[in-house]
Amino acid sequence: MTYNIDAIRADFPILSREVNGKPLVYLDNGASAQKPKVVIDAITQAYSHEYANVHRGLHYLSNLATDKYEAVRGKVAQFLGVPDENEIVFTSGTTEAFNLVSYGWGAHNLKAGDEIILSVMEHHANIVPWHFLRERLGVKLVWVDCDTNGDLDPQAVIDAMTPRTRMIAITHLSNVLGTVVDVKSICEAARARGIVTCVDGSQAAVHMPVNVADLGCDFYAITGHKLYGPSGSGAIYMKRARMDEMQPFMGGGDMIRDVHRDTITWNDPPMKFEAGTPGIVQQIGLGVALDYMMGVGMEAIAAHETSLRDYARTRLDGLNWLNVQGKSATKAAIFSFTLEGAAHAHDISTVLDKKGVAVRAGHHCAQPLMDHMGVPATCRASFAMYNTTDEVDALVDALELCHDLFA
Ligand code: PLP
Repeated sequence: MTYNIDAIRADFPILSREVNGKPLVYLDNGASAQKPKVVIDAITQAYSHEYANVHRGLHYLSNLATDKYEAVRGKVAQFLGVPDENEIVFTSGTTEAFNLVSYGWGAHNLKAGDEIILSVMEHHANIVPWHFLRERLGVKLVWVDCDTNGDLDPQAVIDAMTPRTRMIAITHLSNVLGTVVDVKSICEAARARGIVTCVDGSQAAVHMPVNVADLGCDFYAITGHKLYGPSGSGAIYMKRARMDEMQPFMGGGDMIRDVHRDTITWNDPPMKFEAGTPGIVQQIGLGVALDYMMGVGMEAIAAHETSLRDYARTRLDGLNWLNVQGKSATKAAIFSFTLEGAAHAHDISTVLDKKGVAVRAGHHCAQPLMDHMGVPATCRASFAMYNTTDEVDALVDALELCHDLFA
């Protein structure tokens, strides 16, 4: 089946708008992706006709909302290749997911002197929760660098493992450089040493098929707003054995079985980790977004984005005044760059915006990586399933204008 890019673009209403009098070229997908009409319609439908609180009602609408909401657990499990949907915990996104692991697992299973390995490419969401454990428990953070291409040698991670290593917190795909990390080899070595693995799938799950069972990790987090779903939606796979070692992170309704004046008992997982009224409609929207992606096919999306990456790489490499950071051969279609003569990445993005080209400028919540690369900030063009080679050309044209302005 051919990849029908026109049909896909037509599914995303926002793509037909103009910005600053120019057709929108949306290349800020790494920050958040646009939403297909089916997701927007599902949200409207849920609030217009099918809304009630979940899990606790005995009336028609509550049961309907509960069924729709709970069905998403199975969709996430299917999307991630997880056989047991009870190992899927809903979250508001990846930041909440890693805080859940830090407070729920880390705080109860780690002690002073234990080591957590991180790659230098981690997003702050997969750094700061471990810093909390460093500050509160005295665990040690051990950093592994990537090379100048942005590649992370799995052997370097394996070499950093010591008898004190208890956890590895690692990204599957860098949000700045697009580097794909060989998480499977790292997880295999970690498992053999009894080390827990916590994988950040925020970016990877958008761009390629992911099979958590095959990766063999303990935790794998995804975030709905990058997966063409609503903000405030997300999920984390947590291996059952890890769940059994965890305490709840947040307390409240739904996560308990019984509450009395002097005692409380927890609900069974995954409910044990989902306190209070959840993002009902957000998760329903996420389910529709995952159906949409699986309908197009993750292999097909990956193939389309690989050809976009190759085209963009060739065009950007032709600009000898553009410093593209991270030239890994196997990276996703995410390009970070600086421009000789431009004062700051913000200057570039402001000029691009005038041409209708939306990119991200800044440290991308990855300051250790910025330090490692020796730059304060970069501009990032991150592509999605609906982007085209024409849009790569529009980016290059706008960059040439920047060069003329700043050179
Ligand atoms: N991890 C990576 C690699 C990201 O790119 C992001 C979002 O930018 C996050 C984590 C944070 O995700 P969320 O927005 O769901 O908290």
